[in-house]
Amino acid sequence: MSNRRRPALFNVYRNEFLRSPAWFARRDRWFTHHATLSERLTCAGCGRTATRAELELHHLDYRGVRLDDGRWRAGEADEDLVAMHPYCHDLLHRLIDRDALLARGRTRRTANHLALQRLRLALQPTDGSTP
Ligand SMILES: [Zn+2]
Ligand SMILES: [Zn+2]
Repeated sequence: MSNRRRPALFNVYRNEFLRSPAWFARRDRWFTHHATLSERLTCAGCGRTATRAELELHHLDYRGVRLDDGRWRAGEADEDLVAMHPYCHDLLHRLIDRDALLARGRTRRTANHLALQRLRLALQPTDGSTP
């Protein structure tokens, strides 16, 4: 399954879903949940500690997102979302969108993990834990 196979639907997600009340509420729940787990929020790209106000949420997978009778439903699992700086988030999308190897023949989740791994290598060159 290619990430590029359904560009129209993907654009609807980005243009409409990401402005919906359902998504705003889901985003708030994500941050509230993670605030109770740990005081420290970090960017999934550069690994730096950040405040909630500095971070955006990126979808590793849109499988929880539904459109029911014209209403968006945000049923993403917590692990389908990661927090990122707007700058790091933008870099990640560029990696996924522009790299044919990442986009072709992979699920969105797999493409995301590969792109995140690459981004971390680029942004955290001293992190020895990344293979
Ligand atoms: Zn970052
Ligand atoms: Zn994103």
